Amino acid sequence: MAAHQEKKLAEERKHQNMQNGTKASQGQWGRAWEVDWFSLASILFLLMFAPLIVYYFIMSCDQYQCSLTDPLLDLLAGNKHLSDIWNRTPTLTSRAAGIYSLWVIFQVFLYMSIPDFCHKFLPGYVGGIQEGAVTPAGVVNKYEINGLQAWIITHVLWFANASWFHFFSPTIIFDNWIPLLWCANILGYAVSTFAMIKGHFFPTNAKDCKFTGNFFYDYMMGIEFNPRIGKWFDFKLFFNGRPGIVAWTLINLSFAAKQQELYGEVTNSMILVNILQGIYVLDFFWNEAWYLKTIDICHDHFGWYLGWGDCVWLPYLYTLQGLYLVYHPVQLCTTHAVGVLMLGLLGYYIFRMTNHQKDLFRRTNGNCRIWGKKPEYIECSYMSVDGTKYYSKLMTSGFWGWARHFNYTGDLMGSLAYCLACGFEHILPYFYIIYMTILLTHRCIRDEHRCCSKYGKDWKRYTAAVPYRLLPGIF
Ligand code: NDP
Repeated sequence: MAAHQEKKLAEERKHQNMQNGTKASQGQWGRAWEVDWFSLASILFLLMFAPLIVYYFIMSCDQYQCSLTDPLLDLLAGNKHLSDIWNRTPTLTSRAAGIYSLWVIFQVFLYMSIPDFCHKFLPGYVGGIQEGAVTPAGVVNKYEINGLQAWIITHVLWFANASWFHFFSPTIIFDNWIPLLWCANILGYAVSTFAMIKGHFFPTNAKDCKFTGNFFYDYMMGIEFNPRIGKWFDFKLFFNGRPGIVAWTLINLSFAAKQQELYGEVTNSMILVNILQGIYVLDFFWNEAWYLKTIDICHDHFGWYLGWGDCVWLPYLYTLQGLYLVYHPVQLCTTHAVGVLMLGLLGYYIFRMTNHQKDLFRRTNGNCRIWGKKPEYIECSYMSVDGTKYYSKLMTSGFWGWARHFNYTGDLMGSLAYCLACGFEHILPYFYIIYMTILLTHRCIRDEHRCCSKYGKDWKRYTAAVPYRLLPGIF
Protein backbone atom coordinates (compact mmCIF):
# COMPACT_ATOMS: atom_id res chain seq x y z
CA MET A 1 0.00 0.00 0.00
CA ALA A 2 2.71 2.45 1.11
CA ALA A 3 4.77 1.44 -1.92
CA HIS A 4 1.84 2.22 -4.24
CA GLN A 5 1.45 5.67 -2.69
CA GLU A 6 5.17 6.28 -3.12
CA LYS A 7 4.87 5.23 -6.79
CA LYS A 8 2.11 7.83 -7.28
CA LEU A 9 4.21 10.44 -5.53
CA ALA A 10 7.13 9.58 -7.81
CA GLU A 11 4.95 10.31 -10.83
CA GLU A 12 3.85 13.62 -9.34
CA ARG A 13 7.48 14.57 -8.61
CA LYS A 14 8.41 13.68 -12.17
CA HIS A 15 5.65 15.95 -13.43
CA GLN A 16 6.78 18.78 -11.16
CA ASN A 17 10.36 18.38 -12.30
CA MET A 18 9.29 18.64 -15.91
CA GLN A 19 7.50 21.87 -15.09
CA ASN A 20 10.60 23.23 -13.36
CA GLY A 21 12.74 22.46 -16.40
CA THR A 22 16.02 20.75 -15.65
CA LYS A 23 16.40 22.28 -12.20
CA ALA A 24 16.54 19.43 -9.71
CA SER A 25 14.84 20.48 -6.49
CA GLN A 26 16.72 19.98 -3.25
CA GLY A 27 15.40 17.06 -1.22
CA GLN A 28 15.61 14.81 -4.30
CA TRP A 29 19.31 14.19 -4.08
CA GLY A 30 19.22 10.39 -4.01
CA ARG A 31 19.33 8.20 -7.14
CA ALA A 32 17.86 9.62 -10.39
CA TRP A 33 14.07 9.82 -10.74
CA GLU A 34 14.19 9.99 -14.49
CA VAL A 35 16.06 7.74 -16.86
CA ASP A 36 17.92 9.30 -19.76
CA TRP A 37 18.57 7.25 -22.89
CA PHE A 38 22.30 6.85 -22.16
CA SER A 39 21.66 5.38 -18.70
CA LEU A 40 19.01 3.08 -20.13
CA ALA A 41 21.30 1.90 -22.94
CA SER A 42 24.15 1.27 -20.46
CA ILE A 43 21.85 -0.67 -18.18
CA LEU A 44 20.50 -2.85 -20.96
CA PHE A 45 24.05 -3.47 -22.14
CA LEU A 46 25.19 -4.50 -18.67
CA LEU A 47 22.15 -6.69 -17.98
CA MET A 48 22.76 -8.54 -21.23
CA PHE A 49 26.53 -8.65 -21.35
CA ALA A 50 27.95 -8.52 -17.81
CA PRO A 51 27.20 -12.22 -17.12
CA LEU A 52 28.69 -13.11 -20.52
CA ILE A 53 31.81 -11.04 -19.82
CA VAL A 54 32.38 -12.91 -16.55
CA TYR A 55 31.83 -16.24 -18.31
CA TYR A 56 34.17 -15.28 -21.14
CA PHE A 57 37.03 -14.37 -18.79
CA ILE A 58 36.71 -17.49 -16.66
CA MET A 59 36.25 -19.77 -19.67
CA SER A 60 39.32 -18.19 -21.37
CA CYS A 61 41.42 -19.26 -18.40
CA ASP A 62 39.85 -22.70 -18.20
CA GLN A 63 40.09 -23.54 -21.89
CA TYR A 64 42.62 -21.10 -23.41
CA GLN A 65 45.27 -20.49 -20.72
CA CYS A 66 43.83 -17.01 -20.03
CA SER A 67 44.19 -15.77 -23.60
CA LEU A 68 41.32 -13.39 -24.38
CA THR A 69 41.91 -13.41 -28.12
CA ASP A 70 42.30 -17.15 -28.82
CA PRO A 71 38.63 -18.08 -28.21
CA LEU A 72 37.55 -15.35 -30.64
CA LEU A 73 40.15 -16.33 -33.23
CA ASP A 74 39.10 -19.98 -32.93
CA LEU A 75 35.47 -19.03 -33.46
CA LEU A 76 36.19 -16.64 -36.34
CA ALA A 77 38.45 -19.16 -38.10
CA GLY A 78 35.73 -21.81 -37.73
CA ASN A 79 38.01 -24.13 -35.72
CA LYS A 80 35.42 -24.15 -32.94
CA HIS A 81 31.74 -23.49 -32.60
CA LEU A 82 30.12 -21.84 -29.60
CA SER A 83 28.63 -25.24 -28.76
CA ASP A 84 32.15 -26.77 -28.56
CA ILE A 85 33.20 -24.19 -25.98
CA TRP A 86 29.94 -24.53 -24.09
CA ASN A 87 30.13 -28.34 -24.07
CA ARG A 88 33.61 -28.22 -22.52
CA THR A 89 32.41 -25.89 -19.75
CA PRO A 90 31.93 -27.61 -16.39
CA THR A 91 28.28 -27.69 -15.34
CA LEU A 92 26.62 -27.03 -12.01
CA THR A 93 27.38 -29.89 -9.63
CA SER A 94 25.71 -30.93 -6.39
CA ARG A 95 29.13 -30.63 -4.69
CA ALA A 96 29.45 -26.98 -5.74
CA ALA A 97 25.83 -26.29 -4.73
CA GLY A 98 26.58 -27.82 -1.32
CA ILE A 99 29.80 -25.83 -0.83
CA TYR A 100 28.14 -22.58 -1.91
CA SER A 101 25.02 -23.06 0.24
CA LEU A 102 27.15 -23.88 3.28
CA TRP A 103 29.28 -20.82 2.61
CA VAL A 104 26.36 -18.40 2.39
CA ILE A 105 24.55 -19.94 5.38
CA PHE A 106 27.76 -19.72 7.42
CA GLN A 107 28.21 -16.04 6.52
CA VAL A 108 24.56 -15.29 7.39
CA PHE A 109 25.13 -17.04 10.71
CA LEU A 110 28.26 -14.99 11.47
CA TYR A 111 26.49 -11.78 10.45
CA MET A 112 23.27 -12.34 12.38
CA SER A 113 24.18 -14.46 15.38
CA ILE A 114 27.50 -13.26 16.79
CA PRO A 115 27.48 -9.66 18.04
CA ASP A 116 30.84 -7.99 17.58
CA PHE A 117 33.42 -8.61 20.26
CA CYS A 118 36.49 -7.32 18.36
CA HIS A 119 35.82 -3.69 19.37
CA LYS A 120 36.10 -4.78 23.02
CA PHE A 121 39.77 -5.67 22.74
CA LEU A 122 41.15 -4.12 19.52
CA PRO A 123 42.23 -0.53 20.24
CA GLY A 124 41.03 1.92 17.58
CA TYR A 125 38.62 -0.53 15.96
CA VAL A 126 35.01 0.69 15.66
CA GLY A 127 32.54 -2.20 15.72
CA GLY A 128 29.24 -3.18 17.31
CA ILE A 129 26.10 -1.15 16.75
CA GLN A 130 26.73 1.90 14.57
CA GLU A 131 24.56 4.43 12.75
CA GLY A 132 24.49 5.01 9.01
CA ALA A 133 24.04 8.39 7.28
CA VAL A 134 20.73 10.26 6.97
CA THR A 135 18.76 8.80 4.03
CA PRO A 136 16.88 11.07 1.58
CA ALA A 137 13.71 10.37 3.61
CA GLY A 138 15.48 11.46 6.80
CA VAL A 139 15.93 7.96 8.31
CA VAL A 140 19.07 6.95 10.23
CA ASN A 141 19.58 3.16 10.17
CA LYS A 142 21.45 1.17 12.76
CA TYR A 143 23.91 -1.58 11.73
CA GLU A 144 25.69 -4.37 13.60
CA ILE A 145 29.29 -3.96 12.48
CA ASN A 146 30.89 -7.38 12.89
CA GLY A 147 32.59 -7.94 9.52
CA LEU A 148 36.13 -8.05 10.90
CA GLN A 149 35.06 -10.75 13.30
CA ALA A 150 33.41 -12.73 10.49
CA TRP A 151 36.58 -12.40 8.39
CA ILE A 152 38.85 -13.50 11.26
CA ILE A 153 36.70 -16.50 12.24
CA THR A 154 36.41 -17.63 8.62
CA HIS A 155 40.17 -17.36 8.03
CA VAL A 156 41.11 -19.02 11.31
CA LEU A 157 38.88 -21.96 10.33
CA TRP A 158 40.42 -22.00 6.84
CA PHE A 159 43.98 -22.18 8.21
CA ALA A 160 42.96 -24.69 10.89
CA ASN A 161 41.55 -26.92 8.16
CA ALA A 162 44.61 -26.49 5.91
CA SER A 163 47.05 -27.20 8.75
CA TRP A 164 45.31 -29.78 10.96
CA PHE A 165 41.83 -30.99 10.12
CA HIS A 166 42.14 -31.57 6.34
CA PHE A 167 38.35 -31.85 5.89
CA PHE A 168 38.80 -30.36 2.42
CA SER A 169 41.70 -29.36 0.21
CA PRO A 170 42.70 -25.65 0.22
CA THR A 171 42.42 -25.85 -3.58
CA ILE A 172 38.67 -26.51 -3.21
CA ILE A 173 37.67 -23.09 -4.54
CA PHE A 174 39.89 -23.31 -7.63
CA ASP A 175 38.83 -26.92 -8.27
CA ASN A 176 35.13 -25.95 -8.32
CA TRP A 177 35.57 -22.48 -9.81
CA ILE A 178 33.13 -22.76 -12.74
CA PRO A 179 30.44 -24.86 -10.98
CA LEU A 180 30.59 -22.26 -8.19
CA LEU A 181 30.08 -19.53 -10.80
CA TRP A 182 26.66 -21.00 -11.62
CA CYS A 183 25.76 -21.04 -7.92
CA ALA A 184 26.86 -17.42 -7.48
CA ASN A 185 24.71 -16.45 -10.48
CA ILE A 186 21.67 -18.22 -9.06
CA LEU A 187 22.04 -16.33 -5.79
CA GLY A 188 22.77 -13.02 -7.55
CA TYR A 189 19.65 -13.23 -9.72
CA ALA A 190 17.48 -14.59 -6.88
CA VAL A 191 18.40 -11.81 -4.49
CA SER A 192 17.97 -9.05 -7.11
CA THR A 193 14.56 -10.39 -8.16
CA PHE A 194 13.49 -10.72 -4.55
CA ALA A 195 14.61 -7.13 -3.88
CA MET A 196 12.51 -5.93 -6.84
CA ILE A 197 9.40 -7.77 -5.61
CA LYS A 198 9.99 -6.62 -2.06
CA GLY A 199 10.36 -3.00 -3.17
CA HIS A 200 6.96 -3.17 -4.86
CA PHE A 201 4.98 -5.11 -2.28
CA PHE A 202 6.56 -4.97 1.16
CA PRO A 203 9.32 -2.35 1.35
CA THR A 204 11.15 -1.73 4.60
CA ASN A 205 10.76 2.02 4.24
CA ALA A 206 8.35 3.16 1.51
CA LYS A 207 9.59 6.77 1.63
CA ASP A 208 13.08 5.68 0.65
CA CYS A 209 11.86 3.74 -2.42
CA LYS A 210 12.34 5.05 -5.93
CA PHE A 211 10.21 4.11 -8.92
CA THR A 212 11.34 5.52 -12.23
CA GLY A 213 8.63 3.69 -14.15
CA ASN A 214 11.28 1.90 -16.20
CA PHE A 215 11.35 -1.80 -15.35
CA PHE A 216 14.95 -2.41 -16.43
CA TYR A 217 16.31 0.64 -14.64
CA ASP A 218 14.47 -0.25 -11.43
CA TYR A 219 15.64 -3.86 -11.63
CA MET A 220 19.23 -2.86 -12.21
CA MET A 221 19.59 0.15 -9.89
CA GLY A 222 17.11 -1.02 -7.26
CA ILE A 223 13.92 0.35 -5.77
CA GLU A 224 14.51 0.10 -2.06
CA PHE A 225 17.25 2.10 -0.46
CA ASN A 226 17.87 -0.10 2.56
CA PRO A 227 15.92 -3.35 2.21
CA ARG A 228 15.94 -5.37 5.39
CA ILE A 229 14.46 -8.57 6.75
CA GLY A 230 13.59 -8.04 10.36
CA LYS A 231 15.46 -5.39 12.26
CA TRP A 232 19.02 -6.39 11.48
CA PHE A 233 19.40 -8.32 8.21
CA ASP A 234 20.46 -5.48 5.95
CA PHE A 235 20.76 -6.59 2.31
CA LYS A 236 23.22 -3.92 1.31
CA LEU A 237 25.67 -4.43 4.16
CA PHE A 238 25.44 -8.22 3.96
CA PHE A 239 25.80 -8.67 0.21
CA ASN A 240 28.29 -5.83 -0.24
CA GLY A 241 30.40 -6.82 2.68
CA ARG A 242 30.16 -10.54 3.32
CA PRO A 243 29.92 -13.48 0.91
CA GLY A 244 32.01 -11.80 -1.82
CA ILE A 245 34.56 -9.76 0.12
CA VAL A 246 35.24 -12.33 2.86
CA ALA A 247 35.70 -14.84 0.05
CA TRP A 248 38.13 -12.58 -1.88
CA THR A 249 41.13 -13.44 0.33
CA LEU A 250 40.13 -17.12 0.56
CA ILE A 251 39.90 -17.32 -3.22
CA ASN A 252 43.43 -15.90 -3.49
CA LEU A 253 44.68 -18.39 -0.90
CA SER A 254 43.08 -21.21 -2.85
CA PHE A 255 44.83 -20.02 -6.03
CA ALA A 256 48.16 -19.93 -4.15
CA ALA A 257 47.53 -23.48 -2.90
CA LYS A 258 46.85 -24.58 -6.48
CA GLN A 259 50.16 -23.09 -7.63
CA GLN A 260 51.89 -25.02 -4.86
CA GLU A 261 50.14 -28.24 -5.90
CA LEU A 262 50.89 -27.80 -9.62
CA TYR A 263 54.44 -26.40 -9.53
CA GLY A 264 55.73 -27.22 -6.06
CA GLU A 265 56.17 -23.52 -5.20
CA VAL A 266 54.27 -20.28 -4.80
CA THR A 267 55.68 -17.48 -6.97
CA ASN A 268 56.57 -14.04 -5.62
CA SER A 269 53.90 -12.52 -7.92
CA MET A 270 51.23 -14.70 -6.27
CA ILE A 271 52.50 -13.69 -2.84
CA LEU A 272 52.37 -10.00 -3.85
CA VAL A 273 48.80 -10.31 -5.12
CA ASN A 274 47.77 -12.12 -1.92
CA ILE A 275 49.44 -9.50 0.28
CA LEU A 276 48.29 -6.35 -1.55
CA GLN A 277 44.70 -7.53 -2.02
CA GLY A 278 44.73 -8.92 1.53
CA ILE A 279 45.61 -5.44 2.87
CA TYR A 280 42.76 -3.94 0.84
CA VAL A 281 40.23 -6.50 2.15
CA LEU A 282 41.42 -6.23 5.75
CA ASP A 283 41.26 -2.45 5.47
CA PHE A 284 37.66 -2.78 4.35
CA PHE A 285 36.74 -4.79 7.43
CA TRP A 286 38.79 -2.69 9.83
CA ASN A 287 36.92 0.35 8.52
CA GLU A 288 33.50 -1.22 8.09
CA ALA A 289 31.87 1.52 10.21
CA TRP A 290 33.37 4.09 7.83
CA TYR A 291 32.00 2.07 4.94
CA LEU A 292 28.47 2.97 6.14
CA LYS A 293 29.25 6.51 4.97
CA THR A 294 30.41 5.56 1.45
CA ILE A 295 28.36 5.88 -1.72
CA ASP A 296 27.43 2.17 -1.83
CA ILE A 297 25.59 2.38 1.46
CA CYS A 298 24.66 6.07 1.56
CA HIS A 299 23.37 6.60 -1.94
CA ASP A 300 22.90 3.45 -4.01
CA HIS A 301 19.62 1.57 -3.94
CA PHE A 302 19.74 -2.22 -3.78
CA GLY A 303 19.11 -3.87 -7.14
CA TRP A 304 20.88 -6.14 -9.60
CA TYR A 305 23.87 -3.78 -9.75
CA LEU A 306 24.69 -4.48 -6.10
CA GLY A 307 22.99 -7.87 -5.63
CA TRP A 308 24.36 -9.68 -8.68
CA GLY A 309 27.52 -7.55 -8.68
CA ASP A 310 28.45 -8.56 -5.14
CA CYS A 311 27.71 -12.25 -5.71
CA VAL A 312 29.31 -12.68 -9.14
CA TRP A 313 31.22 -9.71 -10.54
CA LEU A 314 33.30 -8.99 -7.46
CA PRO A 315 34.50 -12.50 -6.50
CA TYR A 316 35.09 -13.55 -10.11
CA LEU A 317 36.63 -10.48 -11.71
CA TYR A 318 38.46 -8.90 -8.77
CA THR A 319 40.41 -12.13 -8.35
CA LEU A 320 41.54 -12.51 -11.97
CA GLN A 321 45.21 -11.86 -11.12
CA GLY A 322 45.41 -14.85 -8.79
CA LEU A 323 43.56 -17.06 -11.28
CA TYR A 324 45.89 -15.94 -14.08
CA LEU A 325 48.95 -16.77 -11.97
CA VAL A 326 47.74 -20.35 -11.53
CA TYR A 327 47.96 -20.77 -15.32
CA HIS A 328 51.05 -18.54 -15.72
CA PRO A 329 53.27 -18.79 -12.63
CA VAL A 330 55.25 -15.55 -13.08
CA GLN A 331 58.44 -15.22 -10.99
CA LEU A 332 59.34 -11.51 -10.93
CA CYS A 333 62.88 -10.15 -10.73
CA THR A 334 63.60 -8.33 -7.47
CA THR A 335 63.40 -4.81 -8.97
CA HIS A 336 60.02 -5.54 -10.56
CA ALA A 337 58.66 -7.13 -7.38
CA VAL A 338 59.87 -4.25 -5.17
CA GLY A 339 58.46 -1.70 -7.65
CA VAL A 340 55.04 -3.41 -7.55
CA LEU A 341 55.12 -3.57 -3.76
CA MET A 342 56.03 0.13 -3.46
CA LEU A 343 53.34 1.22 -5.92
CA GLY A 344 50.76 -0.94 -4.14
CA LEU A 345 51.67 0.36 -0.70
CA LEU A 346 51.83 4.00 -1.84
CA GLY A 347 48.42 3.63 -3.53
CA TYR A 348 47.03 2.05 -0.39
CA TYR A 349 48.49 4.85 1.79
CA ILE A 350 46.89 7.57 -0.37
CA PHE A 351 43.58 5.66 -0.51
CA ARG A 352 43.46 5.13 3.26
CA MET A 353 44.72 8.57 4.34
CA THR A 354 42.33 10.40 2.01
CA ASN A 355 39.37 8.37 3.26
CA HIS A 356 40.58 8.80 6.83
CA GLN A 357 40.88 12.57 6.49
CA LYS A 358 37.28 12.89 5.32
CA ASP A 359 36.03 10.49 7.97
CA LEU A 360 37.86 12.36 10.75
CA PHE A 361 36.69 15.70 9.41
CA ARG A 362 33.05 14.60 9.25
CA ARG A 363 33.07 12.77 12.61
CA THR A 364 34.52 15.75 14.46
CA ASN A 365 32.52 18.28 12.46
CA GLY A 366 35.77 19.91 11.37
CA ASN A 367 37.22 20.12 14.91
CA CYS A 368 40.38 18.15 14.14
CA ARG A 369 43.82 18.62 12.67
CA ILE A 370 44.76 17.57 9.13
CA TRP A 371 48.47 17.63 8.39
CA GLY A 372 48.99 19.53 11.63
CA LYS A 373 46.54 22.33 10.79
CA LYS A 374 42.86 23.06 11.33
CA PRO A 375 41.06 21.89 8.16
CA GLU A 376 39.67 24.41 5.69
CA TYR A 377 36.14 23.87 4.42
CA ILE A 378 33.05 25.26 2.75
CA GLU A 379 29.80 25.40 4.72
CA CYS A 380 26.83 23.99 2.82
CA SER A 381 23.19 23.05 3.33
CA TYR A 382 20.67 20.60 1.84
CA MET A 383 17.12 19.43 2.39
CA SER A 384 15.53 15.99 2.84
CA VAL A 385 12.22 15.09 1.18
CA ASP A 386 10.17 16.24 4.18
CA GLY A 387 11.67 19.74 3.85
CA THR A 388 13.99 19.49 6.87
CA LYS A 389 17.12 21.58 6.35
CA TYR A 390 20.51 20.00 7.19
CA TYR A 391 23.96 21.56 7.31
CA SER A 392 27.20 19.99 6.16
CA LYS A 393 30.80 20.87 5.35
CA LEU A 394 33.04 20.09 2.40
CA MET A 395 36.73 19.98 3.23
CA THR A 396 39.13 21.88 0.96
CA SER A 397 42.47 21.04 2.60
CA GLY A 398 44.63 17.93 3.07
CA PHE A 399 44.32 15.44 0.19
CA TRP A 400 40.82 16.86 -0.38
CA GLY A 401 42.43 20.15 -1.37
CA TRP A 402 44.56 18.40 -4.02
CA ALA A 403 41.63 16.85 -5.89
CA ARG A 404 37.95 16.13 -5.26
CA HIS A 405 38.45 12.33 -5.37
CA PHE A 406 42.08 11.71 -4.50
CA ASN A 407 40.96 8.54 -2.67
CA TYR A 408 40.04 7.11 -6.09
CA THR A 409 43.52 8.02 -7.37
CA GLY A 410 45.11 5.97 -4.56
CA ASP A 411 42.73 3.10 -5.27
CA LEU A 412 43.72 3.16 -8.94
CA MET A 413 47.44 3.07 -8.09
CA GLY A 414 46.87 0.01 -5.90
CA SER A 415 44.77 -1.63 -8.63
CA LEU A 416 47.54 -1.05 -11.18
CA ALA A 417 50.04 -2.69 -8.82
CA TYR A 418 48.00 -5.95 -8.70
CA CYS A 419 47.99 -6.07 -12.48
CA LEU A 420 51.69 -5.27 -12.87
CA ALA A 421 52.47 -8.19 -10.57
CA CYS A 422 51.33 -10.49 -13.40
CA GLY A 423 53.98 -9.41 -15.92
CA PHE A 424 53.24 -8.34 -19.48
CA GLU A 425 52.40 -11.50 -21.40
CA HIS A 426 48.59 -11.23 -21.39
CA ILE A 427 45.94 -8.52 -21.20
CA LEU A 428 43.56 -10.52 -18.97
CA PRO A 429 45.07 -9.53 -15.58
CA TYR A 430 44.93 -5.87 -16.70
CA PHE A 431 41.17 -6.02 -16.95
CA TYR A 432 41.01 -4.90 -13.32
CA ILE A 433 42.76 -1.55 -13.82
CA ILE A 434 40.76 -0.88 -17.00
CA TYR A 435 37.53 -1.67 -15.18
CA MET A 436 38.43 0.32 -12.05
CA THR A 437 39.36 3.36 -14.16
CA ILE A 438 35.96 3.24 -15.86
CA LEU A 439 34.13 2.50 -12.59
CA LEU A 440 35.78 5.22 -10.54
CA THR A 441 35.66 7.87 -13.28
CA HIS A 442 31.97 7.14 -13.81
CA ARG A 443 31.43 7.09 -10.04
CA CYS A 444 33.18 10.42 -9.72
CA ILE A 445 30.87 11.99 -12.32
CA ARG A 446 27.77 10.31 -10.83
CA ASP A 447 28.69 11.46 -7.32
CA GLU A 448 29.36 15.02 -8.44
CA HIS A 449 26.03 15.14 -10.26
CA ARG A 450 24.32 14.01 -7.05
CA CYS A 451 26.27 16.42 -4.85
CA CYS A 452 25.42 19.25 -7.22
CA SER A 453 21.67 18.51 -6.83
CA LYS A 454 22.12 18.11 -3.10
CA TYR A 455 24.17 21.22 -2.33
CA GLY A 456 23.29 23.48 -5.30
CA LYS A 457 25.36 26.69 -5.36
CA ASP A 458 27.47 25.55 -2.38
CA TRP A 459 28.79 22.70 -4.56
CA LYS A 460 29.79 25.24 -7.22
CA ARG A 461 31.79 27.16 -4.62
CA TYR A 462 33.49 23.91 -3.67
CA THR A 463 34.42 22.97 -7.24
CA ALA A 464 35.81 26.48 -7.73
CA ALA A 465 38.02 25.98 -4.64
CA VAL A 466 39.12 22.44 -5.66
CA PRO A 467 39.01 22.42 -9.47
CA TYR A 468 40.39 18.93 -10.25
CA ARG A 469 38.75 15.53 -9.83
CA LEU A 470 41.45 12.86 -9.80
CA LEU A 471 44.80 14.25 -10.91
CA PRO A 472 45.80 17.77 -9.81
CA GLY A 473 46.45 19.94 -12.87
CA ILE A 474 45.22 17.27 -15.34
CA PHE A 475 41.69 15.98 -14.69
P1 NDP B 1 33.84 9.00 -1.23
O1 NDP B 1 34.31 8.38 0.01
O2 NDP B 1 34.76 9.94 -1.93
O3 NDP B 1 32.49 9.72 -0.86
C1 NDP B 1 31.91 10.71 -1.67
C2 NDP B 1 31.00 11.50 -0.75
O4 NDP B 1 31.78 12.19 0.22
C3 NDP B 1 30.23 12.57 -1.47
O5 NDP B 1 29.04 12.05 -2.01
C4 NDP B 1 29.96 13.54 -0.35
O6 NDP B 1 28.91 13.00 0.45
C5 NDP B 1 31.22 13.47 0.49
N1 NDP B 1 32.24 14.42 0.12
C6 NDP B 1 32.68 14.71 -1.13
N2 NDP B 1 33.66 15.64 -1.09
C7 NDP B 1 33.84 15.92 0.22
C8 NDP B 1 34.71 16.81 0.91
N3 NDP B 1 35.56 17.59 0.25
N4 NDP B 1 34.64 16.88 2.25
C9 NDP B 1 33.78 16.09 2.93
N5 NDP B 1 32.93 15.23 2.33
C10 NDP B 1 32.96 15.15 0.99
O7 NDP B 1 33.39 7.98 -2.34
P2 NDP B 1 32.99 6.44 -2.34
O8 NDP B 1 32.01 6.19 -1.30
O9 NDP B 1 32.63 6.14 -3.76
O10 NDP B 1 34.36 5.69 -2.09
C11 NDP B 1 34.91 5.32 -0.86
C12 NDP B 1 36.17 4.53 -1.13
O11 NDP B 1 35.83 3.25 -1.62
C13 NDP B 1 37.07 5.18 -2.16
O12 NDP B 1 38.39 5.20 -1.70
C14 NDP B 1 36.95 4.31 -3.37
O13 NDP B 1 38.18 4.27 -4.06
C15 NDP B 1 36.57 2.95 -2.79
N6 NDP B 1 35.73 2.19 -3.71
C16 NDP B 1 36.19 0.97 -4.14
C17 NDP B 1 35.44 0.22 -5.01
C18 NDP B 1 35.92 -1.10 -5.48
O14 NDP B 1 35.15 -1.78 -6.16
N7 NDP B 1 37.12 -1.53 -5.15
C19 NDP B 1 34.13 0.67 -5.50
C20 NDP B 1 33.77 1.94 -4.98
C21 NDP B 1 34.53 2.66 -4.12
P3 NDP B 1 27.90 13.87 1.32
O15 NDP B 1 26.61 13.73 0.61
O16 NDP B 1 27.93 13.22 2.65
O17 NDP B 1 28.43 15.28 1.35
